[in-house]
Amino acid sequence: VTVVVAATCTACGACLATCPERALLRAPRRPAVIDALCTDCLACLEVCPVDAIVPVPPPVHPIEEASYRIMTERVDLSAWDGRDRDVVARMVHATADESFAGTARVGERAVEAAVVALAAGAAVVCDARMVVAGIPSVAGAVCLLDEVPAAPPGDTRSAAAIRRAAERYPDDALWVFGNAPTALFALLELHAAGVVRPAAVVGLPVGYVGAAESKEALWAGDLRPIAITNSGARGGSPAAAGAVNALARLARARREAST
Ligand code: SF4
Ligand code: SF4
Repeated sequence: VTVVVAATCTACGACLATCPERALLRAPRRPAVIDALCTDCLACLEVCPVDAIVPVPPPVHPIEEASYRIMTERVDLSAWDGRDRDVVARMVHATADESFAGTARVGERAVEAAVVALAAGAAVVCDARMVVAGIPSVAGAVCLLDEVPAAPPGDTRSAAAIRRAAERYPDDALWVFGNAPTALFALLELHAAGVVRPAAVVGLPVGYVGAAESKEALWAGDLRPIAITNSGARGGSPAAAGAVNALARLARARREAST
């Protein structure tokens, strides 16, 4: 991965001063990136006021290419159209769990809303560090579990971390759940109370206690049009990260098309 500077650059120079590797050179219209020096720290993305710097994904590895081809031969994804299919396929591919092809649920505006948010550099709030680890190309991904050392009385750490995140990112974040049903329930409560207004929600908690119920509540509520989820106990961080990686790839394509 390296980065490219898009035509929307205003030549403010902020990234030049930030790059720790001196991998950005002043050039007449916009900074030039020296790929050999860039370490992919993405610090320049953080400082660019107009989101003109975008990461370039690595080329698809031949093993991943073969794996994707085998998956699409084995799994019937014909029930899914266009970009929804891209997201569901990635969930199946990331987990080798073919049941997602039948149990996934994608709200009518969910993919577009998530792509717009990611293309705009929105915060991506995750309920587990494993989700963050699974989406390395998404610059704005955070998990606040470490800020909650112990569960508050009557609550879980995961839910408390989501309440904390809601204070910090009340508007237009992408919320991603790959682990804790209590975290997803907390987001639904916060949304119902008017505290938080997500751009979109990837809701894929896993397990036998509360996961299916939390996802049913997501799908039955006001967030349904912007929700990507599934029915049943299956879910998990790899599935959630897979969905976000598919959305991030679509967002990158959109950004590149607009440059
Ligand atoms: S990603 Fe890091 S090393 Fe690469 S150009 Fe940006 S600031 Fe420099
Ligand atoms: S921070 Fe963004 S707008 Fe400013 S010079 Fe760098 S790429 Fe251009």
